[in-house]
Amino acid sequence: MGKNHSRGNLFVISGPSGTGKGTICAELVKEDGIDLSVSMTTRAPRPGEVDGKHYYFASREEFLENIEKDNFLEYATVFDNMYGTPKDAVLKRLDRGHNVILEIDVQGGLLVKKAMPEAILVFILPPSNEVLRQRLEGRGTDSPEVIEKRLAGALNEIKLLGEYDYYVVNDDLATAIDEVKGIIRAEGQRVPAKVAPIVSRYE
Ligand code: 5GP
Repeated sequence: MGKNHSRGNLFVISGPSGTGKGTICAELVKEDGIDLSVSMTTRAPRPGEVDGKHYYFASREEFLENIEKDNFLEYATVFDNMYGTPKDAVLKRLDRGHNVILEIDVQGGLLVKKAMPEAILVFILPPSNEVLRQRLEGRGTDSPEVIEKRLAGALNEIKLLGEYDYYVVNDDLATAIDEVKGIIRAEGQRVPAKVAPIVSRYE
């Protein structure tokens, strides 16, 4: 079917912090032809984070310069820091036929859908508030106030679920990963808007 010549699909994966979306994305990119976009951020690197791998760490001035030059597919302010998706890298990979994953927040997801309506939005949900709280507490990285802030933020994000195309509940990690892979596979088989080039191969 000449699939290797078709453009890749763009996936947005969002969900409140503590849902395990980062772990899910790290598993997905182990598959051939699935690339994770590296965002630019103004937040400071956490221990172990590598510039150019986890994020492109930038100053506020550098970030604003990139906005000015229209270098972002989307950008948003999350927890007082700015985050943006570099446009060119994403478009190049899609042109090469790779699927590209953006692990970004819900505001960013909605902006991507506006800019590229063909993007596929996947929402990762925790099984319940109690489990989300346990996971955030279990990380041991956040103070009780920050945890309350994150839980309130989670509900605000979940209220926008209706704007997304798919949802996956991350109860069991392996099952959740399988479900997201299933979505990526199914979208790869979706009949495109322009079917003429496919039909013509059989004429
Ligand atoms: P963290 O600082 O914990 O790495 O990320 C905080 C939040 O920012 C997460 O929800 C993450 O998905 C989101 N995020 C990371 N990169 C981007 C981006 O390029 N654009 C947007 N809109 N959100 C991002």
